Amino acid sequence: MKGRIYNFNAGPAALPLPVLEEIQAEFLDFKGSGMSITEVSHRSKWFDVTINDAVARVKRLLKLDENFHVLFLQGGASLQFCMVPMNLLREGESADYVNTGIWAAKAIKEAQIQGKKANVVASSEDSNFSYIPADIHFNPDAAYVHITSNNTIRGTQWPSFPDTKGIPLISDMSSDIMSRSFDPSPFGLMYAGAQKNLGPAGATLVIIRQDMLDRVPQHLPTMLKYTTYAEKNSMFNTPPCFAIYVIGLVLKWLEESIGGVDKMETLNRQKASLLYQAIDRTDFYRGTADKECRSLMNVTFRLPSEELEKKFVNIALENGLGGLKGHRSVGGCRASIYNATDLEAVKALVDFMEEFERRNG
Ligand SMILES: *Cc1c(COP(=O)(O)O)cnc(C)c1O
Repeated sequence: MKGRIYNFNAGPAALPLPVLEEIQAEFLDFKGSGMSITEVSHRSKWFDVTINDAVARVKRLLKLDENFHVLFLQGGASLQFCMVPMNLLREGESADYVNTGIWAAKAIKEAQIQGKKANVVASSEDSNFSYIPADIHFNPDAAYVHITSNNTIRGTQWPSFPDTKGIPLISDMSSDIMSRSFDPSPFGLMYAGAQKNLGPAGATLVIIRQDMLDRVPQHLPTMLKYTTYAEKNSMFNTPPCFAIYVIGLVLKWLEESIGGVDKMETLNRQKASLLYQAIDRTDFYRGTADKECRSLMNVTFRLPSEELEKKFVNIALENGLGGLKGHRSVGGCRASIYNATDLEAVKALVDFMEEFERRNG
């Protein structure tokens, strides 16, 4: 569509164009209410249908059984770093954490500042977080194992989930939820800030298994307890209504236009392999993550100099390709190719990369 760029932002990130058009089309009169979705009561039938539809779609798309509760919270993934140990780690217990980058480290810190025992059982810090540790020995009595399924900043992703031998797995899935299929049964809890692969900022998706809810201490502040959200269908207080509505539309698009998570994964693999091929083809571009654990979502790479990287990002934008600057903490370049960034966008980027190398290599 004219005036819109190919969007490779890391988050907030691209949304499917049909979703944006649907929001626009029904914005002034939401489903015959005579109001916009931002004006209706969260206690109204209009919003009830909206949130229940979003919850049902999450369950269908991830093939969750009745043991799982689907919740919408606020405070981003960052609040989950704090809520997970607060709710799930009891007095005297410890949890295992795997440190695969900045977000993982923040999760560890939030457990430790509460005086909780968070054991770092594996880390890839020795190599600039360029890989995902393998053959990890988990403590058999850990209350849970916490991982970051996709490392948005470093461009690594768990190729498959670790076998925790029955210990509940908890994952920060902010940047890869709904991008590939997996067996949800080992997971006690999954969480994701919406602004990467689900919708706009403002809502956090939390998927929690019943046995984890049973761990929640009574004495916690009401708004910091998972049970509060589970008992009230995420509506103890006013939820982030607009964000939940958009998430519902994105999930409808994923189910009905794409055809589900399996189909999405096939497309995502196609997109990522095209881009990694372009990087590997030459010495001009250099991928920063080890090949076995490269992310399908965040493709990180360097150019021969920082000066060229700056030029690459700027000239790309002049050519309608936005958001290619690496995270400020690591530099370099990063193309985030979440679900909503389609094959056409990736092809345009690959063409641009070839042209840029011809002129500057
Ligand atoms: C973006 C991101 C976060 C931070 O999310 P907020 O919603 O801003 O708190 C945490 N973890 C991962 C993996 C992320 O990509």
